[in-house]
Amino acid sequence: MQPWSAGSWKVPRDLRRMPIYGGIEAGGTKFVCGIGSGPGDLETFECATTAPRETIARVVAFFRGRQVESIGIASFGPVDPNPASPTFGFITTTPKPGWREFDIAGAVRSGLGVKVAFDTDVNGAALGEHRWGAARGVDAFVYVTVGTGIGGGAMIDGRLLHGRMHPEMGHVRIPHDRAQDPYPGCCPFHGDCLEGLASGRAIEERWGAGGRSLPPEHAAWELEAHYLALGLMNWTCTLSPQRVIMGGGVMQRLDPAYVQNKVAALLNGYLDPPEIVRPELGSLSGVLGAIALAEALK
Ligand code: ZN
Repeated sequence: MQPWSAGSWKVPRDLRRMPIYGGIEAGGTKFVCGIGSGPGDLETFECATTAPRETIARVVAFFRGRQVESIGIASFGPVDPNPASPTFGFITTTPKPGWREFDIAGAVRSGLGVKVAFDTDVNGAALGEHRWGAARGVDAFVYVTVGTGIGGGAMIDGRLLHGRMHPEMGHVRIPHDRAQDPYPGCCPFHGDCLEGLASGRAIEERWGAGGRSLPPEHAAWELEAHYLALGLMNWTCTLSPQRVIMGGGVMQRLDPAYVQNKVAALLNGYLDPPEIVRPELGSLSGVLGAIALAEALK
């Protein structure tokens, strides 16, 4: 029983007395901001990602005067998520103009005067799915998004995985049969890494049409499932997840069970494949995860 309702069932549940948090999913295309204590009372605001100062000014204007306890930021990267580092809360080596070495956590903190939690967009989404979605009760899982790019976050033994900085799961190397698929890949750093071969951008460049306009029987989807299964095999062998949550626009066109069967075939009986599922929070995994990051600051 909530303490403020003790003694009288007639007292309405007063959400204003529950601590509310701010969450910012900082994406390369748009920022999604949210205020609330979870999915039940979430209020969101979106704006395009333009120049850093301009974008942060819009975000600060949304939160100003809203009495949030703290704010979580789940950001595109690469980022520095190490609280002991002098560049904690910075976006680091992004090729996105203007955002390289930008202190995004510092800009939000100084703009609003509240405590700020910070992590990658995909670790944030993983935390959101653990708190309210497809990974409730699961303490070893991976969250992967397959959209314009490919990124992955992980919780292992109940803790978000960081290591030296954070994993960059989209950039693993996978076998690339150039006789079957002559497309060279689109990663500006590695060419035909997983992201270079299987991101939404790769699909569009290889086939001359975006994933949205390719019919379900198109050869693009078999090749896409093949590449993603190879990535999943790597993550399965290195991280030992019980479950993998796969979100992002490209995954809306693929059946997770079909991809899981391909992973099982690649593992060839040596290991069982992890369960592959869709996010339960849909497109709100990131912003809710940012709220969960803020909540965890307590
Ligand atoms: Zn790459």
